[in-house]
Amino acid sequence: TVSDQAFVTLATNDVYCQGALVLGQSLRNQRLTRKLVVLITPHVSSLLRVVLSRVFDEVIEVNLIDSADYIHLAFLNRPELGVTLTKLHCWTLTRYSKCVFLDADTLVLSNIDELFERGEFSAAPDPGWPDCFNSGVFVFQPSLETHGLLLQHATDHGSFDGADQGLLNSFFSSWSTADIHKHLPFIYNLSSNTAYTYSPAFKQFGSSAKVVHFLGSRKPWNYKYNPQTGSVLEEGSELVTQHQASFLKVWWGIYHGSILPLYE
Ligand code: UDP
Ligand code: MN
Repeated sequence: TVSDQAFVTLATNDVYCQGALVLGQSLRNQRLTRKLVVLITPHVSSLLRVVLSRVFDEVIEVNLIDSADYIHLAFLNRPELGVTLTKLHCWTLTRYSKCVFLDADTLVLSNIDELFERGEFSAAPDPGWPDCFNSGVFVFQPSLETHGLLLQHATDHGSFDGADQGLLNSFFSSWSTADIHKHLPFIYNLSSNTAYTYSPAFKQFGSSAKVVHFLGSRKPWNYKYNPQTGSVLEEGSELVTQHQASFLKVWWGIYHGSILPLYE
């Protein structure tokens, strides 16, 4: 195993922890060869910390308010960037030479170790605006210097979408033109709820998906699951595409089969 490289995710509350747990387990299911790290904030309960520690090698609490002064300042000046600044904290993991960040609402379907061959900053196009990258999956190199520059950028310019994606896109602004090796293929960040918009492409390439991203307001944990039939139930009249349904089934299969038993 390569001990100076890690997969990193973030969960600021117990709800997102459910996503982080399934993500972590999905990585373990694919011959994990790197360390597994989850960043949490003080809101996360002690029960969830215990459960997280059964899946992750490291559970690291980050508390922006208690951190260095420049972080404190950035946080105070731009309170709306709270979760965003927390994500930026991944650059402080300097005991690792290279990391892959994955949102807590992603799910890994096959081994993705080859991502560690990519350099900072690598990410896949955003399905809504492909000249921007989606910040749900990215390759980065921890560095206190970069972290400081990112926070400075946040205080100086804010974020055009109020979140980490806008900030990271304006910071790594040459992503769309500079180096094609930093464009991850879409199969490393397949948006489960937008794939249907180009269904022939999905038919052609969808089965090679390696990372699914449940981006948007409805997360897997908002659905109901029937463990007897293995079916995921939609609430209200919202339509779930066949692809979405099959990815949700994988998510719930892991949650029910591997995560719930960890609470015992
Ligand atoms: N996140 C979190 N707590 C929150 C909101 C977000 O921990 O209340 C983290 C989590 O890792 C999540 C990521 O920030 O996956 C980005 O948020 P989200 O996935 O909800 O945004 P989307 O991908 O839907 O744009
Ligand atoms: Mn996400």
